[in-house]
Formats: sequence, structure tokens, C-alpha cells
Amino acid sequence: MSLLTLDVSKCVHTSNKFAICNKCVEVCPVETIKIDENIVSFIPNDCVGCGGCDAVCPTSAYDLDDFKAIDFVFTFLENNLEILSCKSELPCIVALSVEELLSLALISPNNIIADIGACKDCSIGTKNLPLIENRIEEVNFLLEALEQDKKIALEELNSEIELTQDALSRRKLLSKEGLKKVVSIKEQLDNEVLASDDALKVHTVTTKDIIKIKQKSIPDRRGLLLMAMKRSKIPEVYHTIDIDNISFISQKDLDEDTCTNCQMCYRICPTGALSSDAKGSVINFNPLSCVQCHSCHDVCEPNSLTKRESFSLASFYEPQIETLVRFTIKRCDECGLPFAYRGGEMMCDRCRVEEEEAHELWGIK
Ligand code: SF4
Ligand code: SF4
Repeated sequence: MSLLTLDVSKCVHTSNKFAICNKCVEVCPVETIKIDENIVSFIPNDCVGCGGCDAVCPTSAYDLDDFKAIDFVFTFLENNLEILSCKSELPCIVALSVEELLSLALISPNNIIADIGACKDCSIGTKNLPLIENRIEEVNFLLEALEQDKKIALEELNSEIELTQDALSRRKLLSKEGLKKVVSIKEQLDNEVLASDDALKVHTVTTKDIIKIKQKSIPDRRGLLLMAMKRSKIPEVYHTIDIDNISFISQKDLDEDTCTNCQMCYRICPTGALSSDAKGSVINFNPLSCVQCHSCHDVCEPNSLTKRESFSLASFYEPQIETLVRFTIKRCDECGLPFAYRGGEMMCDRCRVEEEEAHELWGIK
């Protein structure tokens, strides 16, 4: 059976107590993933290994020991395959993210078919089929917007593919009447697995995790997509699409009047899409590194940072780091620390608030 693990340093909740990301919880068909007090937990033995959480996690925090989506994509392309199916090496089509599906469609010379023939008899099909349909709809929309003459077709080819051994054992587990049945079959299979995996796995944050958080990283699937874009036909016009039509990347606007230069957004950004210089005098944004995790918005108290309502596909072909705001940095007369000066007194926001509170306390106007 598949073993699911979580790299806690990659989950946005670990570094940001205001994070609202709930994507893995929402997609898990057996509802084993929970977020409690900002820490993700799940029971490893409840996991049916569909890979949905891995595909939907913006920061690729999950790992299945027996399925790596990137390896799958390269094997699929090397073997010039055409059909995506849970009857082959894929645990479920839901294990492929929008970026991986789009990369496959862009690079493959074939018209790819997603075989959903087994979904109706699969105990997790009711939950996963709409997710698969939505993802493929997004991919096909993007292919059209990128002027690619391709589509991923959804078809029911159930009887036409020979099952691999891996797929046979998965099917034995999943193709039953319902999740209750799955759980009882899993109980038999889980006798072979460590008993401790039956327990709720509550992740703890270690010093190593903190070091990893500071390193920042971009999921491999983004590199794959950029490579696929380079290999595919360049559109004649770079179209702009509504942000609701793209789930994995964004462009930002920043209201410089309300931004306090608290630095939280770029400190919290897990990929380094938001950054600054050594003096903290700018906020830069690189859309190609953004994974739409929403963490920067969750932490911005004055709501100065917003997701642009449209997304220009030119970002993929003519990458540009945008400077969202520039500050004049001066030293505060009170505390001596650098701050974003906006004219008037040479006092940072924190000292100003402290002064106002002191005045209120002592009744000074
Ligand atoms: S960042 Fe990933 S692991 Fe964390 S809550 Fe979001 S989807 Fe789940
Ligand atoms: S810019 Fe914001 S939404 Fe994009 S990756 Fe960084 S924190 Fe996430």
C-alpha cells in the first residue's frame, strides 16, 4: 500500500498562523486530513493513495512513496503514451495537478485521453471525478488561451485497457460499493503495515524544518511547466485571462498608501515570489514563482496586497520581476531602527503607536 508523508516545513500553516489554505482537507476522499491548531494531521493507514492532496497542495508538501507525478509525466512522454488511466501506473487521474496535465498536453505530440471509465465503479470516484473534470476543463481553457491546437479528452474507455499488476491491487481496494467497504478491506491489507500508521500522525516542527522554511523553494512542477511552455508553439498574441480561470499562479497589485512595509508578505512567501532588497526599500514580485498559496494575503493586515483580477499569459514567455512598491528608508529618531519614511516626523509606526498610547494613558492631547 502507498505510504503518504508530509514535509511539514512546506505547509503554509507551519510558517503562517493566519494561513487559510485548506486544499488538501477539501480534496481528501476519505476525509483523513485535518488541520488542528495550524498543524496538518492524518492517519496514514486511512490514506487510499489517490494522490489528490499532493496534486492540489500549492507547495507540494505531500509525498507518496510509490508515485511521483513528475516521474510519471516523463515516463508517459518517453513512451509516447496517449491514455491517462488508473489502470496504468497512475493511482488516480486526480494525482496529476493542473500544471502537470498542462505540461503533458503541451509536450505530447498525441491527443491525450483521460479515461474516466472506472470512476463510476470506484468508491472514491464520486468525490474525485468532479475534481478531475474541473482540472481538465482548466487545462483545456488554458490550451485554447495559449493558442495550442490541442485538448485533453475525457472518455470512458473502461474495457479497452489491460490492467497492470499495480492497478489490479488498487482496483481490488477501491472498486467496491463504498468507503465503508474500502475501510474493511484496508484493515486486512494494513496488517502488513506498521501498526503505528493506524495512529493519527500529528506533525511537529523541528529546527531542521525551520531551516528548510527559510530556504524557500518552488515546486518541481513549475519547472516542468516552464520547460513545456518553451517546447510548445509560442502564441501569436499573449492573451489576458480572468484570474478565476487559472488556479496555480497569480499577479499582484499593492496599495502603497496602506502598506506599512511590515515585511510580512515576503518573509512568509514560501517560494520567494515576493522579495525585497537588503535595506527593505522595495517589494518585488516574480509571478513565475507564485503558486497562489494565498499566504501573503492572509498575513497582510491592511489588505494592501491584492490578487490582480486578470492574468497576462505573457508572464510565461516574457518573465519580468515587477517592483510593486518603493520606500524611502530612514532611521527612526526614537528607536533608531530603519523604517519607511513618508514625510513629516522621523518616527516609525511602532514608536508613533506607542506615543499615541502613552498620550491616551496620561490624558495628554
Ligand atoms: S499548504 Fe498544502 S499541506 Fe498545507 S494546508 Fe495547504 S494543501 Fe494542505
Ligand atoms: S506571492 Fe503570495 S500567493 Fe504567491 S507564492 Fe508567495 S505567498 Fe503564495
